Amino acid sequence: MSDRPGLLVHNAAEVVTASGGVRRGADQAEIGIVYGDGAVAAYEGRIVAVGSLEEVERRLGEMGVAAHAVARLDARGGVVTPGLIDPHTHLIFAGTRQAEVELRQRGHGYLDILAAGGGILQTVRETRAAPDEVLLANARRWSAEMLSHGVTTVEVKSGYGLSTDEELRLLRLAGQLAEEGPLDIVPTFLGAHAVAPEFRGRADAAVAYMANVIDEQLPRVAEQGIATSCDVFCERGVFDVEMSRRLLTRAKELGLQARLHADQLNATGGAELAAEIGALSADHLGGISEAGIAALAGAAGSDRPTVATLLPISAFYLDEPHYAPARTMIEAGIPVAVGTDFNPGSSPAPNAELALQFAVHRLRLTASEAIGAMTINAAAALGLEQTHGSLEDGKHADLVLWEADSHTLLPYWLGADLVRTVVKRGHVVYEGRQD
Ligand SMILES: [Zn+2]
Repeated sequence: MSDRPGLLVHNAAEVVTASGGVRRGADQAEIGIVYGDGAVAAYEGRIVAVGSLEEVERRLGEMGVAAHAVARLDARGGVVTPGLIDPHTHLIFAGTRQAEVELRQRGHGYLDILAAGGGILQTVRETRAAPDEVLLANARRWSAEMLSHGVTTVEVKSGYGLSTDEELRLLRLAGQLAEEGPLDIVPTFLGAHAVAPEFRGRADAAVAYMANVIDEQLPRVAEQGIATSCDVFCERGVFDVEMSRRLLTRAKELGLQARLHADQLNATGGAELAAEIGALSADHLGGISEAGIAALAGAAGSDRPTVATLLPISAFYLDEPHYAPARTMIEAGIPVAVGTDFNPGSSPAPNAELALQFAVHRLRLTASEAIGAMTINAAAALGLEQTHGSLEDGKHADLVLWEADSHTLLPYWLGADLVRTVVKRGHVVYEGRQD
């Protein structure tokens, strides 16, 4: 890693800037590409110029930056994009759940396995039993994998603790990972991921556990300032819209942003709730209703629209009946983001390149729309669109150099790893194949 304060990336066939803010409608495909001899300069971790090499060198000169203060990085005729942002993961957990694959093959549904005390609850048992060091080692292993696929910022949810102490522990560990770097980590409190084992079997299990989340867990999370948003698994047989509204309304009162797992498998009114309360994002949406689409479209014009965060890998892995209707959403002007949903039960895929490929080949986004979905729109889904997700002056110098000379190739080579170099805050933090 160079310790020079400046970085000049040059010789790019395309620089995808994604500049100009959150994308909706036809703009989702306008990702601001500089073609031919493109360059990007960063100084002290921030972007200071994007354009032709001549323009960028002139800007560095105007700033009075000496040549020896700038590390030069040759993009070798490849594409340069903003660092990818994964806006939905469950990174901190213990154990694996491959046995569920065969259960599902024999006809047991994802929600049936959960109702029988498996699924998420198996991960809860294993996570609670794991010491901090085991959870951290696992999370470091998979965050390194995410980085190698071009991710520079990742949202990380708690939700495998399901008690005040355990949820706080997972969020503390997320904070520790953030300190270790290099990824920026956005921590989300997901105490309402499933009804905790201690409450199961009661007639009022979901209601009683939700009261515990709202009255005991949430205030402690807010007081410690260790999460920036609050999430809930709003789904048939898990938490209904009424309970989710109570939780997210209270979370907003306590200064957290709202986001939710909405209409993943069934249309429950999750998207409508997201629009009603001004959630940062509504996630999954495979079962969204027409009313849900209309509600998100109605909120899409605001400065802070609710982003539809789509997670096609988990829909594929669970063999869900529907992928989210991404084309309809884009036509309705709803900003669309895409993430991996990395977790041990429904998306054991720490690979943002794969998410990009699925966005194109399952959700029918164009390559440009998919790249916008995993950069500026993913930043907006996390409330980071002012600082992350595009290559614009003043933003964090997070970028990826690709082994491809057109952005249209990124979702084309299925399963291939095309990441050559990852830059975080102006420094090279990962190098893949360099040939
Ligand atoms: Zn999730």
